Amino acid sequence: MNQNVIELNGIVKSYGNVKAVDGISLQVKKGEVLGIIGANGAGKSTTLEIMMGLRKPDAGSVKVLGKDLSVSGDEIKQQIGIQLQQTALYDRIKVKEALKLFSSYYEKNRDLSEIIATLGLKPYLNKYVKNLSGGWQQRTSLALALVNDPEIIFLDEPTTGLDPQARLELWACINQYRGEGKTIILSTHYMDEAQRYCDRIAIIKKGKLVACDAPNRLVESLVNTQGTMEDVYLQHAVEM
Ligand code: ADP
Repeated sequence: MNQNVIELNGIVKSYGNVKAVDGISLQVKKGEVLGIIGANGAGKSTTLEIMMGLRKPDAGSVKVLGKDLSVSGDEIKQQIGIQLQQTALYDRIKVKEALKLFSSYYEKNRDLSEIIATLGLKPYLNKYVKNLSGGWQQRTSLALALVNDPEIIFLDEPTTGLDPQARLELWACINQYRGEGKTIILSTHYMDEAQRYCDRIAIIKKGKLVACDAPNRLVESLVNTQGTMEDVYLQHAVEM
């Protein structure tokens, strides 16, 4: 149960003069829910995209499910699920079409009717993704990340812009898959979510991992022990 499903070792990634990721090393264990927090531009998405194999690091190594991503990328992609921030790629198709299309990308498929039932998508199958509310769009994109029954699920700011009820409902969905022992890695700007749902929180600042621990340990490590997760964020993630 303690095996690492992700191992980042000294990852570096620059875009021109901008060092988006500046030497991040991090291990994620099987079954863990890891939250990545940090200011806009800190390097969260780039770090996630490197773990997903969507971007190649300039330096450092990435192991996913025990295999080197630079060697076994195609094999690894079959075993991970990806929910990206932008939905523009598939918002011109219907929910059902998107599910079928994404299923066709993978050798292994999870039973679509089971995913649809679990996420409550049945009434929306014949609707265009772009016409759905934010909460249902996010549920659709979570469903798309699940079609290959992945071992690891990556979610880039899954609840951004959702109202509190939609956020709670999406977390109820995510937690069902956590209950199956899936590893879940997500970025979020909501400190309440990070504290409540994540086993560990990685804090990224200017491309560096400045803290990574269980939420209660991060809170307890504050000088002011009455602190909150917001205080943890302000202490670690922000230039004061
Ligand atoms: P976050 O997800 O924490 O907001 P990002 O990883 O998106 O951070 O971005 C980190 C830095 O890299 C930012 O300065 C951003 O402007 C820059 N960046 C990200 N993607 C690109 C890109 N494709 N081209 C150029 N710069 C980029």
